[in-house]
Amino acid sequence: MIYFDNVSKVYSAGTPAITDITLGIEPGEFVSIVGHSGAGKTTLLKMLFAEESPTTGSVLFNERAIHELTNRELIQMRRQIGTVFQDFRLLPTKTVYENIAFAMEASGRPDEDIIADVPYVLELVDLADKMWNFPKELSGGEQQRVAIARAIVNQPDILIADEPTGNLDPINTYEVVQILKKINDLGTTVLLTTHNRNVVDSVGKRVVTLDQGRIVRDDQSGKYSF
Ligand code: ADP
Repeated sequence: MIYFDNVSKVYSAGTPAITDITLGIEPGEFVSIVGHSGAGKTTLLKMLFAEESPTTGSVLFNERAIHELTNRELIQMRRQIGTVFQDFRLLPTKTVYENIAFAMEASGRPDEDIIADVPYVLELVDLADKMWNFPKELSGGEQQRVAIARAIVNQPDILIADEPTGNLDPINTYEVVQILKKINDLGTTVLLTTHNRNVVDSVGKRVVTLDQGRIVRDDQSGKYSF
């Protein structure tokens, strides 16, 4: 489904961020990408989302090279990918319900879907009781769970979580990891970047370790061993 085919990325400043990466990810996998800050994790995700182009090699999504897609195809492809970031990125003036409904409206989903699906995804992340609260009334972990609900409400094939627990304490981190595992169990491919050893160990799935832009380990049921 996702295939990085001998990909390298050198930024314009001359920094080699990714070097000779070949990596396949199958539907339904849960892959943790780990490595020190600057190892190239975010660059890898940005190339998958076509925010950055590879300098050499190609990134394939469902056997199509992402950087050869037309704008229209790119929009379609991005709809199949949900994203979550360290800083939550919720709209502060909208309630939890409105934050999720807004993402559905942007994808052209009809009102009856919105009314049915927003409570459903909030139930999934254990936040049905916070539906009418504003983000600032929630803990960091709760805000991240809203962001996850928003990322999955349009039923993407893939959920990308880029350091989703970076701002959270251990208890909230644990809860977010459990939610990501649950979403993966329901069939969504999950791609997680982190440098938190406890996160990787509690996921207990495939771990790809990057060091200075190269894959140095790829363990099927890995533990953090950097
Ligand atoms: P990570 O997510 O593992 O911290 P990044 O992918 O952000 O790593 O960065 C990998 C390398 O690429 C680092 O050396 C970083 O400084 C460099 N880099 C990242 N983004 C840019 C950019 N837009 N321009 C120039 N260099 C960049």
